[in-house]
Amino acid sequence: MSLAIEVKHLSCSYLGNTALSDINFSINEGNLVGIIGPNGAGKSTLLKAMLNLIKKDSGEIRILGHSIKEMKTKVAYVPQRNDIDWDFPITVLDTVLLGTYPNLGLFKRPKKEHKIWALECLKQVGIESYSNRQIGELSGGQQQRVFLARALAQKADMYFLDEPFVGVDITSEETIISVLKQLRNQGKTVVVVHHDLSKAADYFDQLILLNKELIEYGEVAKVFAPEIIGRAYNQPFQTKPDTEVFV
Ligand code: ADP
Ligand code: MG
Repeated sequence: MSLAIEVKHLSCSYLGNTALSDINFSINEGNLVGIIGPNGAGKSTLLKAMLNLIKKDSGEIRILGHSIKEMKTKVAYVPQRNDIDWDFPITVLDTVLLGTYPNLGLFKRPKKEHKIWALECLKQVGIESYSNRQIGELSGGQQQRVFLARALAQKADMYFLDEPFVGVDITSEETIISVLKQLRNQGKTVVVVHHDLSKAADYFDQLILLNKELIEYGEVAKVFAPEIIGRAYNQPFQTKPDTEVFV
């Protein structure tokens, strides 16, 4: 199995305030990985640094053995809800077509085959009937599915999603996790920022537990232990018999 992502000695800060300090981990291809940790732990910063969307203070990132600059079109990114302008006047289909642009080449217009592929991606997330709507008219769950369809349209090797289940109804959440598991089963690498611990053990193969530093990473069974989770959240961690989690 080959290495999908290597992060070595990564540190990031905003105006002198440390957000991530000396992060080291690696992920093998074909895994569905959760990045978990409390609010402000640096989860989004870690995704953005891996995608070279923000400046890092130090460290090195390798994606399938290459720099992210070389791999940009191979990595699909679904940003956190708040980072998207939902009032932007664009239809669902055109949003998904944007995902085909990396494969389209510069200055080329999407052709019929691209539209067929974009509709196919919308079908995979169950909202092809909304293709002519404005994205602003959709519910939170439908909007998140549109962005997942856009990521699928890119035919990437790797998928990074930031809090895809926030503000999302249960049907959308089930659709999204099922599509992500399918991608993993096809050998793709999927990395998901997630803060709801109650589902973490069901959803992911591996976890990266953060709180500015890397607290732990590895198989869910290793990381999802009360003592380890408690260290990231700086307080005791309890589970109830029905697996509801209180932190
Ligand atoms: P998480 O996604 O885990 O909630 P973030 O990566 O968004 O955490 O943020 C980590 C820390 O960096 C927080 O303290 C946050 O306030 C700060 N931060 C994030 N983005 C910026 C920014 N653009 N400017 C200044 N500080 C920021
Ligand atoms: Mg975040």
